[in-house]
Amino acid sequence: MAGTEEQVKPEVVVPDTAPPSSASEFAVENPATGEVIAHCPNLGPEDIKKMAARGREVQPAWEALGFEGRARILKRMQKWVMDHQEEVIAVIRSETGKTYEDALIAEISYGAAAFGFWATNAEKYLADEKVKSSAVLVKGKKLLLRYRPLGLIGVIGPWNYPLTNSFGDCIPALAAGNSVILKPSEITPLTSLKLAEGLKECGIPDGVFQVATGLGATGAALVDEVDMIMFTGSTATGKKVMKTAADTLTPVSLELGGKDPLIVLKDADVDRAANTALYYGMFNGGQTCISVERVYVEEPVYDEFVAKVTEKARALRQGDGPSGSVDVGSMTFPPQVDIVEKHVEDAKAKGARVLVGGERGQHNGGYWYEPTVLVDVDHTMLAMTEETFGPTLPIMKVRDEEEAIKMANDSPYGLGASVFGKDIAHAEAVARRVEAGAVCVNDALINYSALELPMGGAKASGLGSRHGAGGIRKYTQQQAMLVTRFATKKDPHMYPYSAKMTTRLSKFFKFLYGRGKRD
Ligand code: NDP
Repeated sequence: MAGTEEQVKPEVVVPDTAPPSSASEFAVENPATGEVIAHCPNLGPEDIKKMAARGREVQPAWEALGFEGRARILKRMQKWVMDHQEEVIAVIRSETGKTYEDALIAEISYGAAAFGFWATNAEKYLADEKVKSSAVLVKGKKLLLRYRPLGLIGVIGPWNYPLTNSFGDCIPALAAGNSVILKPSEITPLTSLKLAEGLKECGIPDGVFQVATGLGATGAALVDEVDMIMFTGSTATGKKVMKTAADTLTPVSLELGGKDPLIVLKDADVDRAANTALYYGMFNGGQTCISVERVYVEEPVYDEFVAKVTEKARALRQGDGPSGSVDVGSMTFPPQVDIVEKHVEDAKAKGARVLVGGERGQHNGGYWYEPTVLVDVDHTMLAMTEETFGPTLPIMKVRDEEEAIKMANDSPYGLGASVFGKDIAHAEAVARRVEAGAVCVNDALINYSALELPMGGAKASGLGSRHGAGGIRKYTQQQAMLVTRFATKKDPHMYPYSAKMTTRLSKFFKFLYGRGKRD
């Protein structure tokens, strides 16, 4: 039902992968209304152990299917997402409160693209690589770098993008030949369960992809059972995951919090900068790891920029309506409203002015915060230093670009960043000085949709990356292979050692390495 107000109310859903013997249940709410829409099992460590055993049992056959066999299922799933687009959007909206367009633009389009991308590119990224060596002792031997699937991958996902950020990380892990257990956020488990149904319909063998619903402890139990953990969420929980993983030397990839700056240089196209800052600050209710969290504007264009952002922000429509009727949805995670309110109140108490919004919203129950524009802000305020993860846009006037760069880098985080300027070479030079995993020039956030481009955090924003070659190789073990094809009975350096051979080798090494000049 494209764009109607009708909300899907999924029945109580139980993952069919691991019959939960010991599980209690937890409730899932529609955050736009506060209504309980489903209950899911809260799986415990014993359930996770059983799921892990099942995943390990079926993994070798999945690996043996080869890239082509796996790609067939992933491509079917791409079509399935498009065929079931409206149902999936309804489920996503029912548990996140996001607008129809936010679900379509950032979840459906990403998910569908990702199934095709990894189906097509997994083999290219994971093909054996021939290696040449200058080491004299391996002359004539075949050297190879091979990427072998790790086995069982655990993906722990957040609530802001249940398809893109949570389920999305499972796709390259599966394409590489691993089994996967996904632990979605307890706030948004229904999308993962819906997609698991899709994978099953598309022919994924039983047990290769499993969804472990539950609370934080379910995620912690998963870390103990798998060969690698892909985690997305807060920096605080990411550190806990890494500590737990240290006990079993389990590799981790972490996509954590951000406080992405946007710099407006004095030669910028102010209209584009204002539209982009507002859109990617408010998109998905500001609940995006790489949303625009703070803005620095050079003095000559500050007033014009603020006036344009303010006018556009006042025109935003917030609510729970059909497609085309609202711009900004509800908050997804109830405690997030308190965090946003705390940041805005703290800024106000320290001298900031609210030009738009600045209050909790009222829309027939649920969890809302108004799209908010703040000025007269500085780095004594939480809104400029801590991840707000809400629909706020604090704007700070800076003397010049040096101050803008200094302020942008004055953060423990380093996920994304943006620089606006018409002199592209200059804007790019400024962008190169910003400490972030990704920087856009005259744009923001949209780099995430380029699946060829690595996306990962610097500083406290994470370890490792998703997308690109690294986004699938992290789910594999790099195995070095050496093959001696033309084998003599024994190589010259082998036992027994003799003075004659030692002298010959010594002269040979001197000939190879000892002829350079000493400075
Ligand atoms: P968390 O980091 O606590 O949760 C992320 C995921 O980790 C969820 O699936 C969660 O399960 C799970 N989890 C919780 N505790 C553990 C644990 N000890 N071991 C393993 N997994 C665990 O994020 P929150 O949902 O609490 O949000 C807190 C803040 O994080 C937000 O205010 C926001 O600032 C930031 N955030 C950042 C995101 C990003 O994309 N970088 C996404 C979401 C939030 P469960 O949900 O069941 O507790």
